[in-house]
Parts: sequence; structure tokens; C-alpha cells
Amino acid sequence: MIIGVPKEIKNNENRVALTPAGVSEMKKHGHAVYVQATAGLGSGFSDEEYANAGAVVLATIEEVYAIAEMIIKVKEPIASEYPLIKKDQLLFTYFHFASSEPLTHAMLEKGAVCLAYETVEKADRSLPLLVPMSEVAGRMAIQQGAKYLEKPLKGRGILLGGVPGVPPAKVLVLGGGIVGTQAAKMAAGLGAQVTIMDLSLPRLRYLDDIMPANVSTEMSNHYNITKAIATADLIVGAVLIPGAKAPHLITRDMLKLMRPGTVVVDVAVDQGGCIETCTPTTHENPTFIIDDIVHYCVANMPGAVPYTSTLALTNATLPYAVQLANKGWEKACNENEELKKGLNIANGKILYKGVAEAWNLPF
Ligand code: NAD
Repeated sequence: MIIGVPKEIKNNENRVALTPAGVSEMKKHGHAVYVQATAGLGSGFSDEEYANAGAVVLATIEEVYAIAEMIIKVKEPIASEYPLIKKDQLLFTYFHFASSEPLTHAMLEKGAVCLAYETVEKADRSLPLLVPMSEVAGRMAIQQGAKYLEKPLKGRGILLGGVPGVPPAKVLVLGGGIVGTQAAKMAAGLGAQVTIMDLSLPRLRYLDDIMPANVSTEMSNHYNITKAIATADLIVGAVLIPGAKAPHLITRDMLKLMRPGTVVVDVAVDQGGCIETCTPTTHENPTFIIDDIVHYCVANMPGAVPYTSTLALTNATLPYAVQLANKGWEKACNENEELKKGLNIANGKILYKGVAEAWNLPF
């Protein structure tokens, strides 16, 4: 198959969908790979590395779309890319169709085959192409939290790990899934005193088993949260209710219970946030302050660490991309239920119920 890797053009997107290692794997399976010049630069991969791995480097995005049977990307195509997409061209990328009606209509009209990373699903209902980004965001939440706890950045001025003779900071993690687990591990590793709250007792049992001694678990309820936020230095929001908005576990009037300079990192902001006062921010301007509480609410946290995020993402996407290239999308989806769940649009039809429901379109 002929595979095209365009450079991401969405604002501040430095990830790339295929690394030189991925090119070499595709070549091993007999596929041709065309990469747009400088596509990998933001993630630390030069054109030369791609060429050495066997890719043909093309100067423009137009050339990449024109030659490719399958386009592998990171973010959904933006409006300037729509005219480049050909009928029956396979696009393997994050789409998030349920949050963009114009994108949904554009892909239907173009007759593209859209396989969305975010809906590829395993039999246990886990989402293997979303997990790596949650891992990155969870670990990063503590780095960012530690930074904004510093006094010049308006935090309480406390070191997460304390020092001998001085107690460590208290970190409260709301939600013990992928993000919460990674955040707790990082905070614990730095020596903080960590509490993870979740609604699932089996999950709390598991976390209690695997976490070090400076992490404790507690049932998530209003009473326990109200008590914990009064002494927490850093709060990480990591709750997810699949297919729904995040519940506001900390409401606006609860901010006054917290100490000035407390930092909240609401990773769940992309689902509305679990702290009521959180609204999405960007890497250029990541925080704002309400009632002396520092809010960090960046909606695309992994975008700030493209070196790590690209490798984490492509480790997960490459095996699926190889199957698509080897078999073509129809055979690959027929033989692999996980990939089939990723099929959102093909032959001018919506094939994913949630997308059809979002825009009241036939399914
Ligand atoms: P996950 O499904 O692995 O974990 C969510 C956890 O929340 C589950 O363990 C669940 O039991 C728990 N939960 C549900 N309701 C709860 C409640 N009321 N109190 C406490 N816990 C509750 O999800 P995840 O992969 O960890 O993702 C968490 C959030 O982070 C999602 O909204 C995801 O979209 C978001 N995310 C954001 C970024 C970013 O850049 N901001 C990056 C990756 C993921």
C-alpha cells in the first residue's frame, strides 16, 4: 500500500503519526511511505532519518495526499486539508467526530474512509489508542502541579517531597483510572503524601495493592472530598464517565474551603472538568486564578511533550496501521473487531452510532 504522512498543521501540534522506526516496519512489509518534509521535526526526527529508514520525503502536503492510499495522521484534518482528500482514501487518525459537525459532513462528502483512533476498542472495552495519551497527561499533571506550587507562580510555595525534618506536600487525585494512577505514581515517587479517590471499590483494592506506602485510597464521595481539599496542596482531576460530561466533584463554593495557593490540575477538562471553575486553557497561557486557587486546565497536555507523546502514540498505533496496510481496511476490519470499532465513516455512510446520534444523521 502507499502510505502518506503529512505534517500536522493544527496550531501547536508537534506530534507526527509515523516515526522512522515505523517507516522501516512498513517497508519490511513491502509498503511505500511518503513523508512530508519537516513532518517529524517537532518530535525530533529529521527528514534525513526518514529517508534513511526508506521513506520518500515530499516537499508539500498536496503531494502527500495526492499519492497516498492511506493517510496516517495525529489530529483530525482541518478545513484547508478537506480539498486534498480523495474518494476512498483511508484516513487513520484522531477524529472526535462527535465534537465537530462540519468535519463529519466534510468527510461524508469527500467519500473518505475514516478510522478513528479514539474509538478503536478492545474486548474489555478499553481504548488502546487513548491510553498512551492518558499516561502522558497523568505523569505530566504532577510535573505541572509541582511547578505551579512554587511561590513565583502563585502557588503555596511547598516542595512536593518536603525535606528531612519538613513534611511533604499532600496530593489528592480524583479518579484512579489511567491518568490518576500515573499521577499518583509520579507524586509518590517524589515523596508526596498521596490520596487517590475513586467510586470503584475493586479499583481502589487494586491500587492499594500496587501503590507504595505513601499512597492511600479512599472512596470518592462529597464528604470525603470536602474534608480532603481543606488540607491538599495539589489536586488532580482525573475522573471519567464514558460518554458523559465529567461530574463537578469540586464546586465553585468549595474553593473557599481550600488554602490560598492550592493548585488544581484538571486533566478531565476535555470532558468538562471535575472542578466546576475549570475552563480549557492553552500551553501559552495554562493557568488562571480564582479565589486564590491556581487552576491549570490545558486540554491537550501531551502536546507539550511531543518527543514522548509521539513515541507513546505510535507504539500503540503502528500494529493497527500495519494491519490496515497489509490487508486493506475492509479485510483488516472484518478480521479484527478492535479495528472495526474504529470505523466511523466509509462509503459515504456513518458507521459509528455515537457520531450519527450526535448530528442526527442516518446510521
Ligand atoms: P479512565 O476511564 O481510565 O479513569 C477514570 C476513572 O474515574 C475511573 O477509574 C472511574 O472509576 C473514576 N470515576 C468515575 N466517577 C468518579 C467519581 N465520581 N469520583 C472518583 N472517581 C470517579 O480515564 P482516564 O484515561 O484516566 O482519563 C481521565 C480523563 O482525562 C478523561 O476525561 C480524559 O479524556 C482526560 N484526558 C485529558 C488529557 C488532557 O490533555 N487534558 C489527556 C488525556 C486524557
